[in-house]
Amino acid sequence: MTEPAALELEREPDVTEGAEPTLLVATPEGDVCDVPGLPAFGRSGRLVQKLDPDELIPMPYGTQLYLLPGRRPAVAAGQEEQLPEGAVAVAAFLPPRYTALRLAAYTVLPGAPQLPLYCYAAVCWYRGQFHVAAIEVDQDPKHDPQMFLPRVLRRYVKRMRKQYPRNRIVGHLADRCALRYGCANAMNFFYRRWEMPIPVAAACNAACVGCISAQPDSPIEPPQQRLDFTPEVSEIVEIAVPHLEQAPGAMVSFGQGCEGEPLMRAELIEEAIRAIRRQTARGTIHLNTNGSRPDALRRLCAAGLDSVRISMNSVYRPWYELYYRPRGYCFEDVLESFRVAREHGCFVSLNYLTFPGVTDSVVETDAFRRFLNDVRPNMVQWRNLNIDPDVYVELLGVEQELAAVGLKCWIERLREEFPWLRHGYLNPPRELWSGGSWAEVFRAGQ
Ligand code: SF4
Repeated sequence: MTEPAALELEREPDVTEGAEPTLLVATPEGDVCDVPGLPAFGRSGRLVQKLDPDELIPMPYGTQLYLLPGRRPAVAAGQEEQLPEGAVAVAAFLPPRYTALRLAAYTVLPGAPQLPLYCYAAVCWYRGQFHVAAIEVDQDPKHDPQMFLPRVLRRYVKRMRKQYPRNRIVGHLADRCALRYGCANAMNFFYRRWEMPIPVAAACNAACVGCISAQPDSPIEPPQQRLDFTPEVSEIVEIAVPHLEQAPGAMVSFGQGCEGEPLMRAELIEEAIRAIRRQTARGTIHLNTNGSRPDALRRLCAAGLDSVRISMNSVYRPWYELYYRPRGYCFEDVLESFRVAREHGCFVSLNYLTFPGVTDSVVETDAFRRFLNDVRPNMVQWRNLNIDPDVYVELLGVEQELAAVGLKCWIERLREEFPWLRHGYLNPPRELWSGGSWAEVFRAGQ
């Protein structure tokens, strides 16, 4: 299939500053330019509207622009003639910490390929620079692209491989995660700072439509290859303990994008947590999970797990089931996992796979209020759902425009209605659970 190409900007768009967000298009060769006089549109669910300046921010560092094959940019009725010949739609893939408020708007041409698993945020030209329809929801620097230097990373990888020559997790994190996928947590392991990943599970009991490590019945390739071995407890402990003891803002996290569901390996994790905690009390032991096995999670909490993040695309049961396609567990088990983790005093986050027009739809927001009052997570992480937008709305059976409040407005309302709820994008270490700052974490690490 055709991958959307990351675009090189070979020239500055020819533009005069205007009050209205202006359409950006790509030529088939990959040049990006604005089209003065044509307003920019964005998409929310199935609704296509002009971009609202109140929802725009200057394009953050680390954003990638994508050309969308077989897709023509959306324009107002009667303005099609003003589109340049062969114009192709453009979208923005946002760096971590930024949640898309509107997606790119386009018309799909016959024969267009399905889009790979990325988020396609709306991008435009406004007030003399690129803008995206997005909101910054976190200040956490852990995944900031400016924090990594390829040359330094390669040196640190070499050093760590020499230190742990037989540890298969180190080999996996080096070759695949850090150097090939550019996984920020894996890179931070080699920098020995903040959150490090410990993948352990090859299997999963869900079949998410947008799973980034398995796409068995789809025409698209998963962007990551799944872990193909099960590590020994000794391999986990060997690298987790020095990280927890030495890294600033130290976290070790089970459950990564390159693996299946870690609760499928609960016995291994339980043993590893106990062994780690026999050696050090420092830092945060965390689990990213689909929350499918509350009983297994209970055992991990009892063993010393500090923090849990449970992923859901929706808290409205029918939409959850259509996307996750759970096998051998149900929606209620996931809710129970939130309750179990809270009862054991863990810091509990919802990894909320966000999609404009669905997450802020009245159906979802009503369910979300009930969800918050029931399970009371400490934090919501507003993660962009990476998926072809048409695939998602069709999957959920969204036939027409849903009544929606607007994502930015919804997050603001939640801040007022549920002042105890934290909002963000990344897992906070324990130093930040009760009001610490990243500046303090940096100072402590010096
Ligand atoms: S729960 Fe995670 S690993 Fe399992 S199918 Fe969904 S995204 Fe993939």
